[in-house]
Amino acid sequence: MIVTRGYASHSASASPLPFHFERRDPGPKDVAIDIQFCGICHSDIHQARNEWGNSIYPMVPGHEIVGVVSAAGSEVTKFKVGDAAAVGVMVDSCRECPSCLDGDEQYCERPGMTGTYNALDRQGNLTFGGYSDHIVVDEAYVLSLPKELDPAAASPLLCAGITTYSPLKHWNIGSGKKVGVVGLGGLGHMGLKFSHALGAETVQFTTSAAKVEDAQRLGADEVILTKGLGWTAKHAQSFDFILDCVSANHDVNTYLGLLKRDGVMCSVGIPEVPVSVHAFAVLGRKTFTGSMVGGIRETQQMLDFCAEKGIVSDIEMTSFDKLDQAWDRVVKADVKYRFVLDIKTL
Ligand code: NAP
Ligand code: ZN
Ligand code: ZN
Repeated sequence: MIVTRGYASHSASASPLPFHFERRDPGPKDVAIDIQFCGICHSDIHQARNEWGNSIYPMVPGHEIVGVVSAAGSEVTKFKVGDAAAVGVMVDSCRECPSCLDGDEQYCERPGMTGTYNALDRQGNLTFGGYSDHIVVDEAYVLSLPKELDPAAASPLLCAGITTYSPLKHWNIGSGKKVGVVGLGGLGHMGLKFSHALGAETVQFTTSAAKVEDAQRLGADEVILTKGLGWTAKHAQSFDFILDCVSANHDVNTYLGLLKRDGVMCSVGIPEVPVSVHAFAVLGRKTFTGSMVGGIRETQQMLDFCAEKGIVSDIEMTSFDKLDQAWDRVVKADVKYRFVLDIKTL
């Protein structure tokens, strides 16, 4: 067993506390990773605080994991000790259902992918995430981190990156398309960078006046502050695609009105309360849809794309003694644009 230190939440209302536990010894197909950095995703907070109603405690959050391989099982082919490796939102899936066979393991149908934390593995053990110093994962669910990428700034690519890259690729975003990104948080700033890098005309929507200049620097052709009235008129029925990255309850009908006929609005944000779509808002054959992270193959493609284009996250490093404050600042949309935990501060 690998003695592991981390931080765990023990209830929806209590602050996360230091937590000691054991990881399995690596099996023939497993890779053991010494974790260096883990990004703080808003999903960590939703789940630690049981906002989606599916939380299992104790919970060690964290699914934006990068580190160095410390051991590799006898049948491992992709990794050797010392390699830079990364783990995202899932650590297993059935590998046999149509979604798994298509490389869309995140949509595994039997009974669903195994989350990196807050899930039960095949043995019925609770999975623990990256707010910890070691993890052991089957190599089929481990990514290679390209050496061109700074490990700390790359860690958010494992969730915020792939979650925004995947729908942009799925809906063929590129030059000639007009894309809106709603919410300039961890996901939103990656969506903005990717949409711009793929060549689309990209408009950033934000509720935060303090983020307008940054949005331009990050690649927005236009930035719209959505406080107040009158900001919709100029853009009515003009967007091919809108990527909604907002973590809290908000009116999606306003944005549906900005789509062209046959346009698509994809929500990657998962607010606590159900989204309300007015039938009138989609009568122009508009689609309101969603998307969940991305498959393993696509995640590796996204990392390689980032290495080629020099794309990483804009991060603020933080430490475990400030975890509570970091979570509170994420909820207040007060981070530019992703907190990353330095695992050395455990
Ligand atoms: P985040 O960093 O907190 O960003 C959310 C952004 O939403 C904020 O920065 C803010 O942007 C905007 N916002 C916050 N409260 C708002 C409100 N009341 N009204 C309007 N806008 C508001 O969160 P994140 O880590 O990017 O995650 C975003 C959401 O995606 C979360 O719900 C998370 O659980 C979900 N998620 C989904 C997937 C998936 O696979 N689909 C994967 C990861 C995360 P401005 O300041 O610019 O307005
Ligand atoms: Zn996440
Ligand atoms: Zn499956």
